[in-house]
Amino acid sequence: MSTRPGPPRPADLRVRDREHVWHPYGPMPGRTDPLVVASASGVRLTLDDGRELVDGMSSWWAAVHGYRHPALDAALRTATDEMAHVMFGGLTHHPAVALATRLVEITPEPLRHVFLADSGSVSVEVAVKMCLQYQRAHGRPGRTRMMTWRGGYHGDTFAAMSVCDPDGGMHALWRGFLPEQVFADVPPAEYTAAYDEHLAAVAADHADELAGIIVEPVVQGAGGMRFHDPRHLRALREIADRHDLVLVLDEIATGFGRTGELFAADHAGIAPDVLCVGKALTGGYLTLAAALCTPAVAAAVSDERGGGGLMHGPTFMGNPLAARVALASVDELLRRDWRAEVAGIGGLLRDGLAPARDLPGVRDVRVLGAIGVVQLDHDVDVPAAQAAAEAEGVWLRPFRDLVYTMPPFVSTPDDVVRIAGGVVAAAAAG
Ligand SMILES: *Cc1c(COP(=O)(O)O)cnc(C)c1O
Repeated sequence: MSTRPGPPRPADLRVRDREHVWHPYGPMPGRTDPLVVASASGVRLTLDDGRELVDGMSSWWAAVHGYRHPALDAALRTATDEMAHVMFGGLTHHPAVALATRLVEITPEPLRHVFLADSGSVSVEVAVKMCLQYQRAHGRPGRTRMMTWRGGYHGDTFAAMSVCDPDGGMHALWRGFLPEQVFADVPPAEYTAAYDEHLAAVAADHADELAGIIVEPVVQGAGGMRFHDPRHLRALREIADRHDLVLVLDEIATGFGRTGELFAADHAGIAPDVLCVGKALTGGYLTLAAALCTPAVAAAVSDERGGGGLMHGPTFMGNPLAARVALASVDELLRRDWRAEVAGIGGLLRDGLAPARDLPGVRDVRVLGAIGVVQLDHDVDVPAAQAAAEAEGVWLRPFRDLVYTMPPFVSTPDDVVRIAGGVVAAAAAG
């Protein structure tokens, strides 16, 4: 008879979760019990009580191909037959080289060099180091601040937090420790020439202390799910060139088709000096991110005066399992008509979310690419909103005043209609 313990009974699992396990952005123990996922396949999460929920979140932008995708599963199996991990200092391997090469091929010219990082936040740290080292190499070691606009989100490590929206709750807690960066106003929803002038004025006022500019292009994600006109990115490109600032675009959320272009920078027809990608990079299978840079940035960082090299080297840098599954995910994306899939999801979200406009307490409904947002005029009652979505068979994770969705690209029209119904129900209940 087998003496191996089976999986813990659901009741035990919940108790132990409460006892031992932190969840994102929460106290210990958590305010509410998380749902227990037993398995996930396609766009569906199967809970331990047998219920199935359509995932409206793509596990935070990542699972664009859904769960248990045959091509990604196969890539991971092949990868484990070769090696799980080897250090990247002094060693290299096919998965990392093939992935880096593919990323260079599909991202804007002249990005050519790839630093593989183990999470989005770490890639932002690396990007900031590139900015500082670039200025050092050019004889301007006093330029150590970053410019950004309000309403952004760039991750939870300290340099990344310092460029997040200062009113988002994360800054007050760390005052005295967090570097103080230079903030422009939140980008407006519609283009205004006045806002371009504002950006130019902020940069000019601080030019001699700025190393770079970092923003999320076209869509600000976790900082408020706001959209802005791509022309403001062109203004930032000009401003960066004028003052010799490194322009960093954080496409960790927007990359790989989510906004309707492969990269959001493509809406503006500009190339950054440094590009951060993550989240959907591995199709949500494993943690991996990358900071890509131009030859000019690489040369400066590598210059003796710039530091003589990039001063970063995560233990799990270039992890072969993550790199293999990332390559499979990117190739799967390019193989499919992702543009049509994203446009189709966007159209269905536009129709499906329209009824939310008439709900009391709804301030705005907006859709871009495969992203749908209902903004309330008050903070969402998250447990009530989630219960309403669950009753529609949909998994959502509202925050602040926002009920939003970014469905997996493999969602069928029926799935998207159901997700939209879940968002409307959540907005009505929340
Ligand atoms: C999620 C996110 C990050 C942080 O990535 P992690 O992998 O969670 O560290 C950074 N920037 C943007 C725009 C993000 O959406």
